[in-house]
Amino acid sequence: MSRFFSNRFSALKPYTPGEQPKDTVYIKLNTNESPFPPSEAVQKAAASEAGRLQLYSDPECRDLNRTAADFFGLEPEQLLMTNGSDEILNFAFMAFGDEAHPFAFPSISYGFYPVFAALNRIPYKEIPLTEDFKIDLEDYKNLNSNIVIANPNAPTGLYLAPDEVEYLVKSNPDHVVIIDEAYIDFGGESALPLVQKYDNLLVTRTFSKSYSLAGARLGFGIASPALIADMNTIKYSTNPYNVNRMTMAAGKAALEDAGYYRACCDKIINTRERTKKALTALGFTVTDSKANFLFAAHDAIGGKELYLALKEKRILIRHFDLKRIENYNRITIGTDEQMDTLLTEIQNILKGNKYYENRKN
Ligand code: PMP
Repeated sequence: MSRFFSNRFSALKPYTPGEQPKDTVYIKLNTNESPFPPSEAVQKAAASEAGRLQLYSDPECRDLNRTAADFFGLEPEQLLMTNGSDEILNFAFMAFGDEAHPFAFPSISYGFYPVFAALNRIPYKEIPLTEDFKIDLEDYKNLNSNIVIANPNAPTGLYLAPDEVEYLVKSNPDHVVIIDEAYIDFGGESALPLVQKYDNLLVTRTFSKSYSLAGARLGFGIASPALIADMNTIKYSTNPYNVNRMTMAAGKAALEDAGYYRACCDKIINTRERTKKALTALGFTVTDSKANFLFAAHDAIGGKELYLALKEKRILIRHFDLKRIENYNRITIGTDEQMDTLLTEIQNILKGNKYYENRKN
């Protein structure tokens, strides 16, 4: 820390992103990226903007907003495009949180939520998940705070149906409820239609996972025009040109090429279910994930031990240093071929494990 660093941030513990190794020898199953490239139309659209990069991008994202509004059956005033969904989440914490308006979220969830709260000096409460990692809706009643919930949750993959989300939103009418739908396209039903009915609901989405655009950085929020206007005040006070030209063109083309992405998501869902079956057969406990990852533990091998053993075999999965989930790992769904390699390597690792061998006999 330099002697110039503000006291406001000196105790801040930043978010730790998953490993992004430079060499490509790894099978990367650690940061929930899509194993499939963006469609050709999307690549072309992004490239066609490269020759205009001397010009600022449209701060209102009009083309993309219009396309997204039509796609989701909304008005453009109900949307705000951002630099990844991390940015819309930060805008929301900034816009709606303060000493008098704290935040609440599950104790095992996306690790960025406590960082956004701390960065913006917002008090927060972490609410434990149930024994089987579920969200108990009753825990979120009359909390007197804003709420953010990842749905499906990360890293568990567990999912709340729209009527459960509605119960949450309805039971906290005087606070903002944020539903982070980063993984909703992998088998869940979106709560998006509820924004027409509730002025305290913000749904956040990303192009990073189901639209294969993690490297482009594009996310968005969907809410009542009033909530969107508040977050626009934050945006225009921090970074008006928050979405670059190439990304804007890529996002628009991606929505116009929905068939390609639906097919990619369906493949990922099939591969997830197949991998889940195979892991269960090997003795893993695997949650009922509705995301593009699995959350799995084995009682013959610690989570960190398995993560390190796979890393030696050039396969990266995500381990979290949290006591309650120390036996678990989050495994992103890759191609069928990548998952076959993963399963073979896991089998080899377990074969050399005396607890596993004893259990089998
Ligand atoms: N929400 C959740 C639950 C996530 O796991 C992630 C990905 N790390 C994000 C939001 C942010 O993703 P992005 O900024 O790439 O849209």
